[in-house]
Formats: sequence, C-alpha cells, structure tokens
Amino acid sequence: MKTLPQALQTLIAHARLEAKSMSSETQPISDALGRALAREVFSAIDVPSYDNSQMDGYAGSAVEMNNALAHLPVSQRIAAGHPGSALKPGTVARIFTGAPIPHGADAVVMQEEVELDASRGIRLLNPVAPGQNIRRKACDLKKGEKLFDKGQRLQAADLALLASVGISKVEVFQGLRVAVFSSGDELRQPGEPIGPGQIYDSNRPMILHMVKNLGFHASDMGSIPDDLAKTREMLKRAAADHDVILTCGGVSVGEEDHIKAAITSEGSLDLWKISVKPGKPFAFGSVGKSTLLGMPGNPVAAWVTFSLLVRPYLLARSGVAVIDCPSFAVVCGFDWPKPDVRQELLRGHIDPQGRAQIHGRQNSAVLSSVTQSDGLIEIPANTPVRQGDIVRFIPYTSFH
Ligand code: AMP
Ligand code: MG
Repeated sequence: MKTLPQALQTLIAHARLEAKSMSSETQPISDALGRALAREVFSAIDVPSYDNSQMDGYAGSAVEMNNALAHLPVSQRIAAGHPGSALKPGTVARIFTGAPIPHGADAVVMQEEVELDASRGIRLLNPVAPGQNIRRKACDLKKGEKLFDKGQRLQAADLALLASVGISKVEVFQGLRVAVFSSGDELRQPGEPIGPGQIYDSNRPMILHMVKNLGFHASDMGSIPDDLAKTREMLKRAAADHDVILTCGGVSVGEEDHIKAAITSEGSLDLWKISVKPGKPFAFGSVGKSTLLGMPGNPVAAWVTFSLLVRPYLLARSGVAVIDCPSFAVVCGFDWPKPDVRQELLRGHIDPQGRAQIHGRQNSAVLSSVTQSDGLIEIPANTPVRQGDIVRFIPYTSFH
C-alpha cells in the first residue's frame, strides 16, 4: 500500500513530465481565469504612475499649512482623472481620492480635520506631517518589477494586478481537456424513475463541477455500464480528444469491476491501494495518449481522492508551478480511541471555541457528511486521538 504523500508524489512527477510538452497560447485576461502562465510577467509601468491623494481633503505645503496665522484660500479643485496646475504659494487645493498631487503640495489634510469658511478658505484643526495622506508613485509596483513567475495559476486578484499595469493579454499553457465518466449498472440519472437496486448517479455531476471549478474543460461522457466491451469502447473514444480521463467506481477487485480489465487491454494500468480511509482503491494508467485516473465509487471516497490526488494532478499537468493545499493545526474536540491502520480523513468542522469536531456519520458512502461539514480532520494511522490533542484540519476551501 502507498501512503497518500507517496501516491501524490508519483502523480505529480508524472504530471510535471507530461506538462513539459504542453503548448501555450495567448489569451485575453478576461479568458485567463484559472490558467497557468507560460512565462514570467513584468510591469512596464510604475503603479501608481503619479503621487496621488489617499483622501478627500485639501492639498498644500505642510510647512505653510502648519504655520498659517489665518485661513488659507482654496485656489483650485482637483478631481480624480483631472490633473491640476502648480499650487499658488500660500493657498491649498481642494482634492479628491486618487487625484494627482499638484506641484508645490507635499501633504493632504482630511476634510474632517479642517474648518472650512466659504469665503476665507480652510484652517487646520491639527498639525499635518509632510507626506501625510499621499500615495507615492510606484508604492505598489515599480517599472520592471516581476509580477508573476511562470506557472502562476491566475486568480481574480492576479488578473486585476495584470490589468493594473495595462496588460490585456497573457501567454498561458493550453487548457486541459478532461473526460468524466461514472460507472455501474445501478446508476440512474436524476429526473429518471428509480427501480429496485438502483441509485442516482451523484459522483458524475460532482466530479464535472470540481473539474470546471479548477478552470478546465470538462466533458460529460456519461455512465459506463458494467460490461467489458462497452467499457473499452467508451474509454477509447474519450482518449481520442482528451488529455485526462476521470472515472469513478469499478476499480475494486470484484468481477463486476471492468474498468481495470478495460484499461489493461487498451493501455496500461497501475492499481493502487492507498493507505487512506476513505479512498483505498485508486487507478492510475493510460488509454491511448491520455492519462486515466480512476477514483473509487463511494461518493465520499471519490470526493476525498479527487480533492487530495486528482486536483493536484490536474493542476500540475496544466503547468501550475506551486500547488498548495493549506491546512492548519487545531485542538481536537473529540475522542478517537480506535484508530485505523490507514490514515483517516474525518469530515468535520471547527466549533466556536476553535476545536475540531466530527460529523456524526463517517461512512464513506454518506455524501451528506461532506455537505454538512467544512473540512477534513487528519487522524494519522494507528494513532489514538483524545480531546485536547492537536490534529490537522484541511478546510474544503483549500480545494478551490
Ligand atoms: P464500485 O467501486 O463500483 O464497486 O462502487 C462502490 C459503491 O459506490 C457502490 O455502492 C456504488 O453503487 C457506489 N457508486 C458508484 N458509482 C457511483 C456514482 N456515480 N454515484 C453514486 N454512487 C456510486
Ligand atoms: Mg460499480
């Protein structure tokens, strides 16, 4: 049996190798969400490119404003987007947030900190320091500064940063095309009537959405019946125009588990037993030119293996350089006296006192335990845990 970190290491190494031959394309930033940069990006400008006001108020010389014996007249009005003129000595400028600081001014006083007289001008209520309330040119980014490394996975704030330096297009690695299958004769689709021994297919919509959430193209390839010839045919068809094939179910050792036999005849297969609960059976192989990752059929096991193995694989395969999955140490709020020989991932949440608590139902077939919890609590193999011990908690938001 492989441990989870061992399985992950093998998958990532494979994904990095495949990613080397990936081509890139230029995309407008409006279409680049979730994509990995194919090259470093530098700023061609200073941001901001001019000193500007951080407040609505009055701009002037700090020395003049502090030493004024009477009101200082307001000689001009400068709004954002409208550069003013050089400041007349002995006066101040009415100024608004984001507007350029006029030549001759070195401080801005908040409008709340002055007494305004319509005919005479302003008088300070408190002294002002030089530089006060001024956002300096290049305080965010300097011209020539590196914004991102190659392999950056572009999120909303990253795209905003590119926009802030005027970049409208970026070179990103090609998007992954991912085929998603469910498998099993017992599966019916939501909306269809259900007969004896049948269940609704919940894994396929879950996996499709998780793939799309990562920013990849996901093809709904339907459900594979428990039939070897059909399984072979459907996998072969998917391999023709997808980089990665994802399946769920059919990877155990029962004779109705045909995915294994189908892959062995259409490509190559490693069947892994991973020392994690839930999620033990996991298939990794190839069909034609595409890579196949086979998750277990039990919905919670599919959720866990997607989150901890398939997600990082897809990200690495798409050229993402750093794949993080933040977790944190918390105080355990429950007793787990009989640990498994495998590492366990319990569904749970953090209570108002900051302690990890488990959901009442921990069976790997119980999908409600996922929707009614906020993260996974790690119990190391063979390790009893008591209230007050420290455990690791992986919030589901780490899987975004
Ligand atoms: P299998 O690995 O095919 O033996 O499936 C293990 C368990 O997961 C069985 O109880 C299946 O009915 C269930 N299962 C398999 N695929 C799905 C699916 N797509 N949606 C919901 N449950 C499933
Ligand atoms: Mg099955």
